[in-house]
Amino acid sequence: MDLRHDAARIVVADLSGDVLTTSEIAISIDRGPLAVLTAVAAVVSELLAAGENGGPELTERREYPRLHAVCVGVPGPVGPALDQVIAPARMPGWNAVDVASLGQELFGVPTLVENDANLVAVGDHLCRSGSGHTVVVTVDTGIGCGVLVEGRLYRGASGMAGDVSHTIVAGAPEVPCSCGRTACLDVIASGSALLRALGAAGGDATTMDDLIRMVHDGHPLATGLVREAGERIGGVLSTVISFFNPTELVLAGPVSTLPTFMAALRSTVYASCLPATTASLTITRIDGAEATLAGAVRLAADKAFISGPLAARVR
Ligand SMILES: [Zn+2]
Repeated sequence: MDLRHDAARIVVADLSGDVLTTSEIAISIDRGPLAVLTAVAAVVSELLAAGENGGPELTERREYPRLHAVCVGVPGPVGPALDQVIAPARMPGWNAVDVASLGQELFGVPTLVENDANLVAVGDHLCRSGSGHTVVVTVDTGIGCGVLVEGRLYRGASGMAGDVSHTIVAGAPEVPCSCGRTACLDVIASGSALLRALGAAGGDATTMDDLIRMVHDGHPLATGLVREAGERIGGVLSTVISFFNPTELVLAGPVSTLPTFMAALRSTVYASCLPATTASLTITRIDGAEATLAGAVRLAADKAFISGPLAARVR
């Protein structure tokens, strides 16, 4: 599943990654892990029952259904054991809750939790077979980042690799951040930050769709804020790119659909990095929705073979 702030997208796939059926429910992530996962578990039960009864999407898959493992994608940092969310900026009630155990209880199968930007990185690599030296950045209400080294997800010592959202931006307004400091990239350049800045200036925007529409309509303040966000995220990513020397920088999320944002980000990266560093760099944009779920399916399948009922069969 891919948990958004206001919705949960659910996909049921077989062990080869082929999608059998999908669903989406409107639910606020602010309701906490028990309420959200209970609601998702009810949907999964319906999908499985539809398969048992020869539901329209599943009639050709006679081996279906049997649940082997669950992956919970979240818009926040995840610990190294892939069992809990660590200090998320906008997920009240989730911090340090053992989501893996809760999932095992609700779904009855091994469950892991993973950051959504990491899922995009894994899923995009599966879908496009890129070079594997890749930095993936999602710019939604928050800013997420996943890193692939030689095609493998690099999570770092504590699962925080790639998390640039609390990098302090020099010269930015002293906006307080959930981490207790001020002027972090997350509170300066994320979608939530842009909406807040628009609201403070008297703009009437409450959702990401509002923001996108205003920029498409040529609203000067909204467009200026998006351009500035592109420059600031590009500035932070320039350091990442100079250090890591990836062949691909992949952007996803609603803000990255805006050409103004992408142009500002590109120009900042190319102006800030050495030509030798960017010579082999491509900066692209993908629709991260499909990649997120593809990544979740892959990690759930891995989980099934590592610790699910299938594990004993393959040993
Ligand atoms: Zn911070």
